[in-house]
Amino acid sequence: MKKGKLFVVSGPSGAGKSTICKEVGKMIRIKLAISATTREPRAGEKNKVDYYFMTKEEYLRRRQNDEFLETAEVHGNYYGTLKEEVDESLSNGENIILEIDVQGGLQIKKKYPESKLIFFKTFTEKELENRLRNRKTEAEDKIMLRLKNSLEELKHEKEYDITIINNTVEQACSDLIKIIENENMG
Ligand code: 5GP
Repeated sequence: MKKGKLFVVSGPSGAGKSTICKEVGKMIRIKLAISATTREPRAGEKNKVDYYFMTKEEYLRRRQNDEFLETAEVHGNYYGTLKEEVDESLSNGENIILEIDVQGGLQIKKKYPESKLIFFKTFTEKELENRLRNRKTEAEDKIMLRLKNSLEELKHEKEYDITIINNTVEQACSDLIKIIENENMG
């Protein structure tokens, strides 16, 4: 059977990655991998749906057991992709989107050189700040940390295969679907 393909989506916090990936997940057949994290769930977030929420102890034990495909510390918490979340699906021919930070993305590229790395960004830094604030999910100190990290993430854009500028949800979804379909034909 033909193996599935891995698509990595990264970019500054607030650039709209989650929204776009969720929409695309409804429009075409592709698995959105669920990541593990040690961060606290936000209001409305569910374990095993939005993330596998773990204590730091559990996370570090599983990292020690080599259960992660990639792992990184982002905004002061651990985030990672479990091998079991990806390997079986790929062998079954399923395509997968990993929505992860650039440190994780570059680890994936090393392990799976054939994966496609997609960078998401909004037009301006100001727009990014507005989006983060309008989301009202983080306190001021967390917003400042996320903005600082976003500027760091932007430096890695050139290491990615392709960039999508998120003007509207419709346009960004259509761009992402085109990239996925294009890879599937190859
Ligand atoms: P949030 O806390 O807003 O859900 O996610 C914060 C950041 O962590 C985002 O940039 C997101 O892409 C990244 N992230 C989420 N899951 C993973 C993962 O499994 N691995 C890595 N390396 N980063 C992740």
